Amino acid sequence: MTARTMDAGTGDVTLFHTSQLDKLINMARENSLWYLLFGLACCGIELMQFGGPRADVMRFGAIPRASPRQADFMIVAGTLTYKMAERAKLLYDQMPEPKYVISMGSCSNCGGLFQLGYSVCKGVDKVIPVDVYVPGCPPRPEALTEGLIRLQELIRSEPWATKRRPAKGSAA
Ligand code: SF4
Repeated sequence: MTARTMDAGTGDVTLFHTSQLDKLINMARENSLWYLLFGLACCGIELMQFGGPRADVMRFGAIPRASPRQADFMIVAGTLTYKMAERAKLLYDQMPEPKYVISMGSCSNCGGLFQLGYSVCKGVDKVIPVDVYVPGCPPRPEALTEGLIRLQELIRSEPWATKRRPAKGSAA
């Protein structure tokens, strides 16, 4: 089923597809998620295990990519300093839409143990939008796998026509 709506204020026309096509596309998207690693501190060690044989996230179709231009989502793991926050933003901006972010661990979520440090960013969501927060210090690879499953659920629930796109006028 397809419905067409028009925003009276802006004149924007939006198509809402509620057909099986949405489910088919989202099934492909959620099961072929490529991720960019951004391991920063102790959480980065657990992040490495996430891709190892025990957690084995490839069974969910998630594989690491070295380039942000090929990544669907980014995992920020560890203590984010202001200097590295600039790099995180730079990498995020290079990722194609639709793109997602998982924040792994207390430091990335809110600054954690080091939040009173003069150089520590109080959460990666201060510089880029975060879709899934994984709590812990550090979270185990199983917790991060749970975060991946939450991200898959989010993607599954997104209507194709309204999935995130670059803001109007954005260069990305
Ligand atoms: S949340 Fe804990 S384990 Fe992770 S980087 Fe911070 S101090 Fe290290």
